[in-house]
Amino acid sequence: MFKHTKIGVTVGPSCADIGTIEAMVEAGMNFARLNFAHGTYDSHAILINRLRAVEKKTGEPLAILQDLQGPRIRIGSLRSGGITVKTNQEVFFNTAKKKFISGEIPVDHPELHKFLRKRQRILVDDGRIEFVVTEVNGSKITAKVVQEGVIHSHKGINLPDSLIKLPALSQKDRRDLRFGIKMGVDAIGLSFVSSAKDIKEARLLINEILEAEKIPLRPIAIIAKIETKEAIKNIRSIIIASDGVMVARGDLGLELPTGEVPVIQKKIIDEANRQAKPVIVATQLLNSMQTSRRPTRAEASDVANAVIDHADALLLTNETATGVFPILAVKTMTDIIISTEKSVYDDIALPPLHFRGLPIDGAIADTVKLLSDEVTIAAVVTATKRGLTARLLSHVRPLPMVIVGTENQDTSRQLSLSWGIKPVVMTPFPLNTKELQERLILYIKDEKIAKKGQKIIVVAGEPIGLAEHVSTVEVRTI
Ligand code: PEP
Repeated sequence: MFKHTKIGVTVGPSCADIGTIEAMVEAGMNFARLNFAHGTYDSHAILINRLRAVEKKTGEPLAILQDLQGPRIRIGSLRSGGITVKTNQEVFFNTAKKKFISGEIPVDHPELHKFLRKRQRILVDDGRIEFVVTEVNGSKITAKVVQEGVIHSHKGINLPDSLIKLPALSQKDRRDLRFGIKMGVDAIGLSFVSSAKDIKEARLLINEILEAEKIPLRPIAIIAKIETKEAIKNIRSIIIASDGVMVARGDLGLELPTGEVPVIQKKIIDEANRQAKPVIVATQLLNSMQTSRRPTRAEASDVANAVIDHADALLLTNETATGVFPILAVKTMTDIIISTEKSVYDDIALPPLHFRGLPIDGAIADTVKLLSDEVTIAAVVTATKRGLTARLLSHVRPLPMVIVGTENQDTSRQLSLSWGIKPVVMTPFPLNTKELQERLILYIKDEKIAKKGQKIIVVAGEPIGLAEHVSTVEVRTI
């Protein structure tokens, strides 16, 4: 059965071999996320080549999302085994130090002390260890341990109460981005964005790199990771500037009170749907499957609720990157998605499209939705050059799958993040509506998507594949 909600898989040591990647695609994986907080260029290059090989073998478009680490502040170098801190203990951080000397914990941001005030929290290692600042004196920060634990070298720091603002792209991100573009990634995950300006800067940098490396201009989607208060404040303009967003619940749950995350998730999804941009919900969806064959019932509900919220895609993180059951985690997610999509609870109306392309594009998408609700339709078929027609159709959520003929593999891969879209590369690209219909009907029959006598909706216009030229919606019996 066709699954409308897409699945992203973080590829890491547990699922890096070609056989596992192929099995995950068969189980429902639609795109891969490579986390550049880990790994080397050699290990990422090997993964990218394997992902491309699996895509070739299975024929399923498989986008590669390069997730840049972003400007994370980290603990410096500590002795091996880490430093144990106990509740209520007084500890010292020092931004001027690189190593643990004289009982002071090094921090890798030389100016951090300027942005910290008494009573503000310091969270270390995904919030596992918590401190509260008691005094700041030059580069030395004194803090009391609220939640004890062992601090290890280079663990990430979150500062939910501080107004510190870091540039969205660190020097490492810039180097990583160049590598990713040269390797042909399809999308970039931009961490800790705070405003639309961050997206615009990244887009300029991408174009500069393409030009400097003499790589022909190609679409590389920018996915803004929403993980800070500032990003929530600017959510509308961030979504307008980007090609998609990720609800990065790991950091979001540290930067904001965890209790606010479920509603924020809904708000981000609604806003992305209004702008017809893909939205990905990430992190801890099936967390316990890192070590268990069965998710908790709460996790199954979390997946179902993200589908009902109308996310385009759900992203597995540690479950697949380092977990014991990567294939089973994908399969379990697929099963939950399919049973949720079959239910009436998934049919709750979306907010009306705010971004409608030209007025006629939005009206055409609405017409397709109306028709697919009234008439039993096996598939909607169309063609797209830049992906816009497909995204508009995806975001009115017609009931059947939307088969989209694309001019090239780049567009096809990028659409593997969008709800309900089945991209098909058409080479050569059809010249007119008649040719588009004939070839896609043949595809539908070959793939056994629909049988003779069933109805489909054809959305087209000439020149083929440009949203602004779409002019006809036709119900056809095949
Ligand atoms: C997250 O914070 O949920 C996330 C996906 O980002 P990262 O794992 O890169 O911190």
